[in-house]
Amino acid sequence: MAEITLLTADPKAGFLAHAEEIRAAIERVLASGHYILGPEVDAFEREWAAYLGGGYAVGVANGTEAIELALRAVGVRLGDAVATVANTVSATAAAIEQIGARLVFVEIDPATMTMSAEALEEVLGKESGRVKAVVPVHLYGHPADMPRIGEVAKKFGAKVVEDCAQAHGAMVGGRKVGTWGEAAAFSFYPTKNLGALGDGGAVFLRDAEVAERVRLLRQYGWRERYRSEVAGRNSRLDELQAAVLRVKLKYLEEENAKRRELAERYRERLGIACKQAPTWRMPEVGAGVEHVWHQFVVRTERREELKAFLAERGVGCAVLYPVPLHRQAAYAQAVSLPETERACAEVLSLPVHPGLTVADVDRVCGEILRWMDA
Ligand SMILES: *Cc1c(COP(=O)(O)O)cnc(C)c1O
Repeated sequence: MAEITLLTADPKAGFLAHAEEIRAAIERVLASGHYILGPEVDAFEREWAAYLGGGYAVGVANGTEAIELALRAVGVRLGDAVATVANTVSATAAAIEQIGARLVFVEIDPATMTMSAEALEEVLGKESGRVKAVVPVHLYGHPADMPRIGEVAKKFGAKVVEDCAQAHGAMVGGRKVGTWGEAAAFSFYPTKNLGALGDGGAVFLRDAEVAERVRLLRQYGWRERYRSEVAGRNSRLDELQAAVLRVKLKYLEEENAKRRELAERYRERLGIACKQAPTWRMPEVGAGVEHVWHQFVVRTERREELKAFLAERGVGCAVLYPVPLHRQAAYAQAVSLPETERACAEVLSLPVHPGLTVADVDRVCGEILRWMDA
């Protein structure tokens, strides 16, 4: 087995690119003596909300809890139903399950592999009022169809909580993901487009009152110390991670632009060959969409073969996600989601992260073209 020299994600490279500034930020926190919910978290919350275009950000422990607290803050309770997709990481379902809410899976649009607004309309109609919230996932950095999902949700009185864990900075019609729904959840897991050096997450809200609910929930239900107003928990973002995130946020746009450049190169180099390969699909970008390329995902029925071929040549690839949630033991349901299942059987993530060069992408493309010819 060859050594994998091109990784699908490289958090260490993300640290080294800004090592000096990150070390200085960490030193500043160490010297401050303030390690939990202090000035760094405050500043990061303000900066993150400003980046998204105004509103309120609340730092929490991770992306999974960001989804859960966002759902709770918009009113989802034990026994409610929550609609989401099945081609996502277990975290999306775990957040819903933590509330004791029932998962309802919605089919995807095969072009973008995100939630289909038509399928959602059908599901919400069938559930007649039981679905309290809809969680679209902006998968791989491509926004879900927020204008239409928003309309459908509104028609059925469901709240929208966006799972933005893979889409920091992505936009639809010039408007950032996270600002479309009643609430949004971000993860700062180290491999995400904006990644900490450990766990971290944030809830984003446009309404001050809902934001205040998340603030209470993330720390024991306290507004005032030692007085729980509501039943809360501990889901805090710490000062060290906030300080690191403040450094990395300064480079997010630049790094997303780098991802875009690499993605363009893949499309250029593989485009023509792919048109001639009937069972091969390149990632599509919807109209008015600003993709942030958390993953560059191609589709082929011969995925396992291509993955092995590339691994032998030192190119790492990932499969997000091999098994849809409704086929996993913890979340098994007898629903029919043929497009979701087909996507899970065919998707392959090629390396795309800001630590790569155009020459690296050319190397991957060269190998893929050789594989297609063979
Ligand atoms: C990473 C991720 C999460 C979970 O984030 P954690 O910080 O790992 O809890 C949720 N949803 C999606 C789509 C993700 O990619």
